[in-house]
Amino acid sequence: MSYQLLTADVLFYQCFLKAAGFYNYGLDGVWGKHTNNADKAFIAQSNSIKQQYGSFDARSETNIITLLPKAQIAARNFLSLAANPNFEVRIISGTRTYAQQDALYKKGRYGNVPPIVTNAKGGRSNHNFGIAWDIGLFDAHGAYNTQDANYITIANLVLPHITNVEWGGNWQSFVDYPHFQLKPITPSIATIRQLFETGGTYV
Ligand SMILES: [Zn+2]
Repeated sequence: MSYQLLTADVLFYQCFLKAAGFYNYGLDGVWGKHTNNADKAFIAQSNSIKQQYGSFDARSETNIITLLPKAQIAARNFLSLAANPNFEVRIISGTRTYAQQDALYKKGRYGNVPPIVTNAKGGRSNHNFGIAWDIGLFDAHGAYNTQDANYITIANLVLPHITNVEWGGNWQSFVDYPHFQLKPITPSIATIRQLFETGGTYV
């Protein structure tokens, strides 16, 4: 990993920790004492949320820990409400750094193997701000199910009971059935990005 990439990742995490309410210092991309303390406080709160709201399969847990605490609570409530006899519901994607988002954007483009999986470059997806997660449905044999109708069924099961969550299945321009997110204060990704990068509040 290059020094530049490391700096970018630390800067991203500082923005995340600031949005989570644990970091109130300069966004300098340097992992110092304050960043370290904020990281510890974030992990402690995440563990406490897990104890209070329930724990899930390993893959979901790996992704839930990448979300802001408010979104972690929403995601855990989501999984509890989504429990059903037909499919196991797992969270298969959570927060991505801008660099990870850019890498995803390249899939299916620039001569890379199809399909295209996202229309968002780094900094242009709600997955970049700690508030969004994607679910996957798995049948009794552990097989990944991708049929829209089943994702719609799960959304209809959960959404009436969880008012602070938005569903990508309701989007007009790019319908995204596996996508859910904590409702931000504005639909504008550009505004959310600016708030994220300057330590503002957006959820
Ligand atoms: Zn998504």
